[in-house]
Amino acid sequence: MAFELDILGSSGSHTGPGRVCSGYLLRTPDTSLLMDCGNGASANLQRILPFEELDGIVITHRHVDHCIDLIGMFYALRFHEEGHKTVRLYAAPQVHDMLTGLLSDDSAFAFNEVFHHVPIHAGDHFQVGDFDITCFESEHPVPTVSLRITGDDRTLTYSSDSAGGAELEQAVEGCDMFLCEATWQGDAEQYPRGVHLTAGDAGTFARRVGVERLMITHVLGSLEPERSRKEAARTFGADVELAVEGEATKV
Ligand SMILES: [Zn+2]
Ligand SMILES: [Zn+2]
Repeated sequence: MAFELDILGSSGSHTGPGRVCSGYLLRTPDTSLLMDCGNGASANLQRILPFEELDGIVITHRHVDHCIDLIGMFYALRFHEEGHKTVRLYAAPQVHDMLTGLLSDDSAFAFNEVFHHVPIHAGDHFQVGDFDITCFESEHPVPTVSLRITGDDRTLTYSSDSAGGAELEQAVEGCDMFLCEATWQGDAEQYPRGVHLTAGDAGTFARRVGVERLMITHVLGSLEPERSRKEAARTFGADVELAVEGEATKV
């Protein structure tokens, strides 16, 4: 068996031409799980299913390109024509406070009625329907988790935003597919350390860890994704897939 991965948004840090920010839907016949919900991702999600049919949402960190669309989703669920709907929200540190901080007191109270908040941290392990999820600490400037998700005996590792590191290596070990951020292009030396990977870094990392199937995502909105794919393939030493809005694959 395999589960399905729908790409809702693949743009890194900001939107790009026709590209929206991080969002991924994982589906088995019985479970629908949303991973991250950045600017615009919720629009593409609604092409596939209404918000209330989600079995859970996992947010990896508080950067807006990974979570800001939950504000709009909150209003849709709160004022649903059948009465307010609820979804379980598994959120990394500071996500809940950041989002409710944008709302009035009344709305912040209602936010907690719509989203049943479950705080998650590196090292946590939990289940959402058919999916078994483990959180790993990510190397990034704010508290961030990388996710290792098993469903139907298949495993996907999602780096979230990450500069690599030993914890990510553990998360990736033996996975069937690695969905890895590749924010930047060219020489890594021109960028700050400890924030993101270049496409070449992503390929090098995946090759060193022995990944069989690599898909890159989170290419900076202003960059050309196809160039990133080529740079990643060069260091990976094999074909690399590119996350593209509207496309789906079996993990
Ligand atoms: Zn990001
Ligand atoms: Zn980030």
